[in-house]
Amino acid sequence: MADPQQLRCRECGTVYAAGPIYVCEKCFGPLEVIYDYDGLARQPLRQIIESGPPSIWRYEALLPVGRVPDVDLSPGYTPLLRASRLGRALGLSHLYIKNDTVNPTWSFKDRVVAVAIAAALRFQFEVVACASTGNLANAVAAHAARAGLRACVFIPNGLERGKVLTTAAYGPTLVEVDGTYDDVNRLCAEIAEEHRWAFVNVNLRPYYSEGGKTLGFEVAEQLGWRAPDHVVVPIASGSLLVKIHKGLTELAKVGLLDRVSTRVHGAQAAGCAPVATAFAEGTEEIRPVRPNTIARSLAIGTPADGRYVLRVTKETGGVIAAVSDDEIVAGIRLLAETEGIFTETAGGVTIAVLRALAERGTFGPDEVVVAYVTGQADSVTAPVAIRPTLRDFERNVLDLVGGPGDRVHA
Ligand SMILES: *Cc1c(COP(=O)(O)O)cnc(C)c1O
Ligand SMILES: [Zn+2]
Repeated sequence: MADPQQLRCRECGTVYAAGPIYVCEKCFGPLEVIYDYDGLARQPLRQIIESGPPSIWRYEALLPVGRVPDVDLSPGYTPLLRASRLGRALGLSHLYIKNDTVNPTWSFKDRVVAVAIAAALRFQFEVVACASTGNLANAVAAHAARAGLRACVFIPNGLERGKVLTTAAYGPTLVEVDGTYDDVNRLCAEIAEEHRWAFVNVNLRPYYSEGGKTLGFEVAEQLGWRAPDHVVVPIASGSLLVKIHKGLTELAKVGLLDRVSTRVHGAQAAGCAPVATAFAEGTEEIRPVRPNTIARSLAIGTPADGRYVLRVTKETGGVIAAVSDDEIVAGIRLLAETEGIFTETAGGVTIAVLRALAERGTFGPDEVVVAYVTGQADSVTAPVAIRPTLRDFERNVLDLVGGPGDRVHA
């Protein structure tokens, strides 16, 4: 696509020219990109995609902005791995892991940010910014560096130290706000009203969020142009889950899939489960929560797309489940030990919910199940500090290393 696409209100249908806007002036509904699906269906899309680059940009025809070659960090087209050992542990014979830990900055956020940066360049912004729970900060800082844009990233206090250190390496202005992610997000919306900055997940949200569709496109392509029977997706704002489903249904609209009957399941941490709670109570009303969980990257207490997540899961026959911090840690271990992938807490949430649903019998024996593992572990373990003496070594290090600490001289 040469030009950014027009926008339409998701609720009342009012159409807007392309631009850095995200709410409808009439009804305050969210804005969405418009595509000409009939026109797209007439193109040789499958051939275009299959001969495209091994990144999200192979799906350029279905994205709101085009690839900008010099600034592309080439995110996406990550492996879809057959997970036989994890599958055996859970009693699933057709389980796949979509391993999105191997993106340029180690999370799925590279996909959405790449699209947002292309839009920011189109709209001639000089500063890109974001409100982040950790991974977005990394992606924005890295992609902005490569695009030669200034970056300012806002994070809540108390994020994982490893993530914050990584973000800083790319040289953005890094602002730690004394508050939760939801406080940070509110502040960013206010700043975006006053200053011409591209907040990727605020005023560029309609473009940004479309990048999430590529996680639906890729899985279908990697399965041989077939939609899975089930997907398990972690929820923060809820955008990713909604867009994976949108990606699959768009492929059907343009004739690349015959039929999409994928059941879309959502995963949250019990310490921040506003959408899972609404699902369990059978209400459409999502009550804000104050997050208290180790899954920091998913700790959004007022999820912007929560009601659309409820719609998608209900429509497709999916469920939304929440898991405890202990179950999340067990999920991280299980994935690492069975499949050799060391995920951050968000992936632990996905695997723990996958396990819970498998135990409940949600998946049929021959059904294809895809679990989205969306971020890499960021364990920066502090070194053990000792003085340069044997005594200090023996006192502080031996037990940590374990194994025989036998003395050479008896
Ligand atoms: C941001 C994020 C998600 C989900 O994000 P949404 O806001 O729901 O789109 C999932 N996993 C990881 C690792 C993330 O950083
Ligand atoms: Zn509207």
